[in-house]
Amino acid sequence: MQGGSSAPTTSDADDGFLASEHIAGLLERLRREPALRAWVLTAPTGALATLGVVLDDNELVQLLERIEALDERALPVTALDIMTPDPVTFRPETTVHEAAKTLAEHRISGAPVIDEGGSIVGIVSEYDLIARPGNTVREVMTREVVSVPDTATLDRVRAILVSQRLKRVPVVNAQGQLVGLISRADLVRELAYRWKCTRCGNLVRARRAPSGCPRCGASNSYEEAPPLPAVAACPTCGRPLDR
Ligand SMILES: [Zn+2]
Repeated sequence: MQGGSSAPTTSDADDGFLASEHIAGLLERLRREPALRAWVLTAPTGALATLGVVLDDNELVQLLERIEALDERALPVTALDIMTPDPVTFRPETTVHEAAKTLAEHRISGAPVIDEGGSIVGIVSEYDLIARPGNTVREVMTREVVSVPDTATLDRVRAILVSQRLKRVPVVNAQGQLVGLISRADLVRELAYRWKCTRCGNLVRARRAPSGCPRCGASNSYEEAPPLPAVAACPTCGRPLDR
């Protein structure tokens, strides 16, 4: 018997599942980490084993349903939702040799450079490493870095990547600290996640077409969303125009 707290009475059959502390903790982590969600959805058995989570078949189905629900929400989406959190970073004093090794090992083409406080002071790309002489990241990094706040809309992020021909853009929090990175691939994935209700026009972000429309109630009314609108950018300087 349980002592102390009085359990609320509910018909929700998932309560026992959610009440489990390690499942609640796992779901919270999955909520914050889109890349981890994608991994668990793609290869649940291997991913959960690596995370040290053991579930029976019934629990696994419930967990996967909850993860899919996390990915399903009304547009628009913010930078925080699509960024890869905790990206690879360098410090200014990192050697060029070490930076080259890290980029090669992680198969990435660039990474932000941060100071002790977590603020971005530069960005290093493959181009920087081969184009500029120097022993440390500080000497070869590009210092003018375009970043976006974690509250930026998807349209805003897209406009910056397109108009400035960037391959990636760092995401910063309200304190100006690096919290993530958005690559072109992250945006391409978003294109695949857009669905539109043919009856009411409701746009939804989900991995698969939702079976029912939360706005108009129509069933099986979702089709692939139309192409994205043109990016509004200044024809002279190329900077994105706010709408
Ligand atoms: Zn609808």
